[in-house]
Amino acid sequence: DCKIAGYDDELARSITDERQRQEDHVELIASENYASPRVMEAQGSVLTNKYAEGYPGKRYYGGCEYVDVAEKLAIARLKQLFGATYANVQPHSGSQANQAVYLALLQPGDTILGMSLAHGGHLTHGAKVNISGKLFNAVQYGVNEHGLVDYDEVERLAIEHKPKMVIGGFSAYSQLMDWARLRAIADKVGAYLFVDMAHVAGLVAASVYPNPVPHAHIVASTTHKTLRGPRGGFIVANASEELEKKLQSIVFPGIQGGPLMHVIAAKAVAFKEALEPEFKTYQQQVVKNAKAMAKTFIERGYKIVSGGTENHLMLIDMIGRDITGKDAEAALGKAHITVNKNAVPNDPRSPFITSGLRIGTPAVTTRGYLEADCIELTNWICDVLDATADNAVIAKVRENVTAQCRKFPVYG
Ligand code: PLP
Repeated sequence: DCKIAGYDDELARSITDERQRQEDHVELIASENYASPRVMEAQGSVLTNKYAEGYPGKRYYGGCEYVDVAEKLAIARLKQLFGATYANVQPHSGSQANQAVYLALLQPGDTILGMSLAHGGHLTHGAKVNISGKLFNAVQYGVNEHGLVDYDEVERLAIEHKPKMVIGGFSAYSQLMDWARLRAIADKVGAYLFVDMAHVAGLVAASVYPNPVPHAHIVASTTHKTLRGPRGGFIVANASEELEKKLQSIVFPGIQGGPLMHVIAAKAVAFKEALEPEFKTYQQQVVKNAKAMAKTFIERGYKIVSGGTENHLMLIDMIGRDITGKDAEAALGKAHITVNKNAVPNDPRSPFITSGLRIGTPAVTTRGYLEADCIELTNWICDVLDATADNAVIAKVRENVTAQCRKFPVYG
């Protein structure tokens, strides 16, 4: 009688239906993953009941002795994962982690230099519709005609606009980022280098993508993408004592109240999992799978922005084709393949329509897909993209996808 089913059947159904969708559909959204049952056990625990404003050992509430243990474990593991001397595990999300960094180091009206949303950056890196673009004077860099970050251009913009902060990191860029070069640019104009490694944090933790922590003044991230934890954020740095103090006080009491202790416990579990040797093997496979998919798309005549991938994602560029990102997303959805439409560099279509698709391998790799499975899947995707209006093709692909999903249960 403590179950949701039988008490609130409509809601219970939405949960069981979503669980079934996750089993039956193939998930290629680059920012998604499947948290482990252990992570979900912590997140569904009694720690949700506890108020713990403040930090371990310095709380504004009594009864925090056990949640302190959870938060200290999360902090210690996070520092170890990324080689940082400072870690804050309280940000409720990636966006809030970024907001904390901005408010700790900048004043309203200061200039920031980040990658534009249209070229692969995140909303929070200075987009006009986001508080980062409203509160600060946001100058944006992008990619060149080869789909690559042009560091000379970043440097030129930095010299011209004298930003107080240079921002590295992305939501849709499939190459390595040269953190050392970005730091050199920041140093040249006396700016902070802030890296938002949300997309690649899991790859970084497993040493299959360059770690920004040795280069940046501050690094922030989400916990739920390649890192495969609960939804949430964090900040790490090798910072001075003064900067640490600023970061601590901006997260709480600056922009947040009580930390989500159940989520922090779930982060601690995820960080322990990320320290295991299997996590490295998993992340290596994520990249191998992405490379296999990119190669297959190219063989089937589809253009990949920047010509390939060095991480977990790729962008299919459909500029000049009859099909839009929106239509492609819908057609693949009918075949039980979940992707997201995405603007590509110099996209002539609006952000609601787009000429691109973003595809990522973290979720399918957690299910156990290897390169051969990804190649098979990519060919089915191309079959649909080649004939988005052909219901017979879509039905056949859906059948194949269903059978493939059954081979790789998510939670069983
Ligand atoms: N930073 C980057 C690079 C992201 O890709 C995202 C999410 O897509 C975020 C921050 C925001 O994270 P959240 O959705 O947890 O606010």
